[in-house]
Amino acid sequence: MFLPAQAPLELVQLDWLTAANVEVAILRLDQIDPLISGNKWFKLVEHLKAADRNGAKGIISLGGAHSNHLHALAAAGKRLGFKTAGLLRGHPQQTPTVADLQAYGMHLHWLGYGGYRARHDPGFWEPWQARYPTLHAVPEGGGGLAGALGCAAIKAQADAQLSHLGWNDYHGWWLACGTGTTLAGLALAEAGAHPVYGALAVPEDHGVAAQIESILQESGRRRADYELIDASRGGFAKVDSALLAFIAQTELDSGVPLEPLYTGKALLALKQQVEAGKFASGTRLVFVHTGGLQGRRGFSHNLLVS
Ligand SMILES: *Cc1c(COP(=O)(O)O)cnc(C)c1O
Repeated sequence: MFLPAQAPLELVQLDWLTAANVEVAILRLDQIDPLISGNKWFKLVEHLKAADRNGAKGIISLGGAHSNHLHALAAAGKRLGFKTAGLLRGHPQQTPTVADLQAYGMHLHWLGYGGYRARHDPGFWEPWQARYPTLHAVPEGGGGLAGALGCAAIKAQADAQLSHLGWNDYHGWWLACGTGTTLAGLALAEAGAHPVYGALAVPEDHGVAAQIESILQESGRRRADYELIDASRGGFAKVDSALLAFIAQTELDSGVPLEPLYTGKALLALKQQVEAGKFASGTRLVFVHTGGLQGRRGFSHNLLVS
């Protein structure tokens, strides 16, 4: 009941793939629903089930003023009919994302920067639980083991469509990583059957590898085959002209919309690895389009093509 609809799986034609004889199919999680987009819905599924089991009336969570997580949560609340509250980083500001959160009926509270930094402190949730006793709290970004388990459905969605492409199998996954929760979910679902390549949208010192390991350990399953590749281009949310040119060209060539923080960086990192010969001729990869397109409205027009 909480699961997103099937995302299309589409072969993509790009000259650098053709040149290397590498096939890539994009799983379009950006197209699962008109309101709710991307991996964030999958990360919410187990949290929604837990809230339901506990008899909660809705969900309270946290994020920034461009947060794809809060956007998916607010949209899911609107779509499925549950209450939502969002605790926001920083001081009140109006972004396209914030306007949507309001339109979807999410209750917003701005914590400032210091207040937001306290989110891991013991006792942080107490006043919010007192204020919203019927809401179930979900950690930032919908992370942790619960978030990862919901992402196992991403593999099932691709598996169900391989035959449409004339594929009987694939050699691995490629996707953008922020916290690594989505990658951990795929690695758990694969149990070592296929490698999962994570293109890091954050610098290497952000502890993504440790977070993935902690999810895998908590799950009790150790067999996982994954690899992290730096794709951050100097920092999270750092955007350069080569990246923007690549996104514009790729959108023209393939018709697939990308945003610069996650999906654009992940695909550019794949291009670099393909051109460096990482994948043998005949390799078939599933690239997960993790969504995030709503967030690109936060960029000024001269920065972002389209
Ligand atoms: C959040 C997000 C990611 C990263 O997901 P993690 O599970 O945190 O690694 C990737 N792409 C987009 C578009 C996102 O919004």
